[in-house]
This record gives sequence, structure tokens and C-alpha cells, in this order.
Amino acid sequence: MTPGARALAWRSPQASAGKACVFIDRDGVINERPGDGYVLAWEEFRFRPDAISALRVLAEAQIPTIVVSNQSCVGRGLLKQTGLIDIMDRMTQRLERANAPLAAWYCCPHAPDDGCDCRKPKPGMILRAIAEFGFDASRSHMIGDSATDAAAGEASGCVTHVIDPSDPNAFLRAVDVVVRA
Ligand SMILES: [Mg+2]
Ligand SMILES: [Zn+2]
Repeated sequence: MTPGARALAWRSPQASAGKACVFIDRDGVINERPGDGYVLAWEEFRFRPDAISALRVLAEAQIPTIVVSNQSCVGRGLLKQTGLIDIMDRMTQRLERANAPLAAWYCCPHAPDDGCDCRKPKPGMILRAIAEFGFDASRSHMIGDSATDAAAGEASGCVTHVIDPSDPNAFLRAVDVVVRA
């Protein structure tokens, strides 16, 4: 992976610029954490129990949701870029069919020593989305399950929420806080 290469990204044709959004980590928030490893195929992707309902609540509240995910499995040579895009496309389509559509996703494909600007805890993916959509960071939220998610959210000026990925309702509760904010 070329260190200068940008994060992989997709934006929904329905997505529009708005005032605030919710950034969401993928592994441990939307899908079950793949242990110490990586999701290397769609067959290994398991939605967490509350993920689809949580994303549907955000969709009904008309709050754009943007996935920001480190996927160093690409930079480590474990998964091709096309394989990662396939998993993200299938996840996106499944959520769309469940009336829980995403506005966009960004994935950092780099390895830790590539020195990129997008791998969390760096805020590169969040700052790029804020610039591309015109969001107000201070009114936006980051929901993750690790300290690196919190660091990236705080560095970009978002309100951050760290959930326990083993709690089956933790994502939905965080979304309830966001919607009431
Ligand atoms: Mg995570
Ligand atoms: Zn990166």
C-alpha cells in the first residue's frame, strides 16, 4: 500500500450535506469483532444484535451515518483492496434494504507503519468527510469501541461515545443519546 494513497471511500448518491452526522466505527459496533483477526470475507461478517435497529433510528431521525474503519488487513497483505470493497458494498446494500442506509463509508487500508493520515487514532477520515459534506464537527458524534476511535473523534472536535462491544444493546443506547442531544 502506497503511504500517500488515500482512504478508500464510497458516498451514497442520496447523501446530502448537512449540519451534523454520526461517525461510526465498523468492527465491534456494526459487526462482531473478528477476535484478534480481521473480517476477510462477507461470510465472516456478523452484524451485532442492535446494529441494524440503531442505524434505523439514525435514519428515521434523518441523521447521516458515516462509517470510518481501519482495515490494515489490506496493508498487511491479508485481503485485497477489491475484497474489502466487496465486503463494504454488501454491508451497505444489506443496510439499505433494512431501511438503515449509510451516507458514506471510509476505510483506511494502510498498515500501521505506512505513516498515513487516515488510520485512527488520526482524524484524517473524519476530517475528510467533514470537509466533503460540510458538517459541523462540534455538532457531530463519533461512536466506537476503542480508545483509538475516541481519540480520532476528539481530535476532529466531535462528541465521542465508546461502547462495550460485548453488550448487545450498547450501540442502540449510544444512538438514543445522540438522537436526544
Ligand atoms: Mg472497533
Ligand atoms: Zn490510512
